[in-house]
Amino acid sequence: MDASAGTTLELERGKVGSLPGGAAWIEGAVVPIEEARIPITDTGFSRSDLTYDVVGVWKGAFFRLEEHLDRFERGCGLLRLQLPYSRDELAAILHELVRVTGLREAYVDVICTRGTPPPGSRDPRTFRNRFYAYVIPYVWLLPWDQRDEGMDAVIARTTERISPRAVDPTVKNFHWGDLTKGLYEAYDRGARFPLLLNAEGHVTEGPGYNVFGLVDGRLLTPVGGVLQGITRRTVLDLAEREGIGFDVREVTEAELWQAAELFATSTAGGVMAITSLDGKPVGDGRPGPVTTRLRDLYWAAHEGPEWTTPVDYSE
Ligand code: PLP
Repeated sequence: MDASAGTTLELERGKVGSLPGGAAWIEGAVVPIEEARIPITDTGFSRSDLTYDVVGVWKGAFFRLEEHLDRFERGCGLLRLQLPYSRDELAAILHELVRVTGLREAYVDVICTRGTPPPGSRDPRTFRNRFYAYVIPYVWLLPWDQRDEGMDAVIARTTERISPRAVDPTVKNFHWGDLTKGLYEAYDRGARFPLLLNAEGHVTEGPGYNVFGLVDGRLLTPVGGVLQGITRRTVLDLAEREGIGFDVREVTEAELWQAAELFATSTAGGVMAITSLDGKPVGDGRPGPVTTRLRDLYWAAHEGPEWTTPVDYSE
């Protein structure tokens, strides 16, 4: 897509690579990441009243940018947030932020908050919604050099995933109390990656990742109570092309224990093998062949034209 098409926003272009540590968009201006500040009265901060999205840049191109912006705009609509920028303007801002960092591999975050109340008001309908964005070097949930070691996961026992009847998990959000509590539970049990169950005991997701199992040769991933991850979507697209059968439905804890392979998916790290569960090896304790194939295809897709949008790094 042409980043400048349909844009009325007057974007001052900074120097390419002048902010290699990261850059943010705050109140209509590009600032170095270390100077990025939000107002303390912004209810995104004080009420977690916002939605956000994270898109990756790999080898100088956004990956599935349109799908990420679709999800972001959908979330804004469901939360009744008014984005101050059009789709083309959002894309132009993101291109500019990546351009000034000069980063070829980046983590790109967009946030729309309910914003700041007018003096004396608590009525969210009166707040001025705000848009922020920032770009920092790419973030790995599981460092790349640990990809063959894989993730050490535990099933959280004292932390339940927040009910989708309370907070819609398909709207990407900062209600991370359960996910962060799950992380500490994992650390206390000598692992790093919790998997959270819902009130019915079905599998949901973890802090920043969806989960898949390979049971009787078919991929399984939870249908509801989770973020519809773009990496999850990509794995399902790739599985379809590879002729790997899959089911998107409720997944039981027992099925995690039956699985020959388990893996997690996230923009921050891609397809990551889960090689132990509650301290026991999954399969032979190494990434399995289906996981490895999907991981390789996932990264190969970052170099093809289908899902990539090259960043405009021109002066
Ligand atoms: N689940 C949760 C709760 C997340 O926060 C994320 C990403 O941050 C994911 C799943 C994975 O989504 P995606 O593949 O779009 O990065």
